[in-house]
Amino acid sequence: MAEWKGIIGNSFSADSFDSYCHTLTWSTWRPSFIVLHNTGIPSLTQRPNGFNKDQINGLQSYYRDDQNWKAGPHLFIDDRQIWVFTPLTVSGTHSPSWNKLALGIEMLGDYEHEPFDSGRGLAVRKNAVQAIATLSAILGLFPDSLKLHREDPLTTHACPGKNVRKLEIIQEVMDLMIKRHAGEHPIKPAA
Ligand SMILES: [Zn+2]
Repeated sequence: MAEWKGIIGNSFSADSFDSYCHTLTWSTWRPSFIVLHNTGIPSLTQRPNGFNKDQINGLQSYYRDDQNWKAGPHLFIDDRQIWVFTPLTVSGTHSPSWNKLALGIEMLGDYEHEPFDSGRGLAVRKNAVQAIATLSAILGLFPDSLKLHREDPLTTHACPGKNVRKLEIIQEVMDLMIKRHAGEHPIKPAA
């Protein structure tokens, strides 16, 4: 029986997630990049209010007891909040080639079919971009190191769906990181 690594099971706003991550230290394991996923099932339609604590606990039972895995993904991001699942300071289980190297972020939705640029899909996208920007800044990861699960040569999952375009996400993360840190490098207005 695999030893389950436990979950944090708390949800954060983008701002409180940033504060939370600043309290963490990556001493035994340090991720080199981030892998982005979508849940597929459940879709946004199947979770009209995003995730709640019971559902997060249910996911723990699924990964631990049904899959018999040691861990799951690190984050579940919905249109309202960022749920920390597997502790960010230990390796997770989400992408066969990259579990030892990467953080795994699940976005609620089926972006093969659900829009990622409007409505609730856009809200998920914005929360995901914020979370990726926070983790990239704190861990010193280049945003263009981001990978999609479907790029893993050992997976056959079309994850996340076609509506998630990697270069757009990378650009949005970079724009946000520049905006957040703008005050550190003030540009003098022309005299
Ligand atoms: Zn995936």
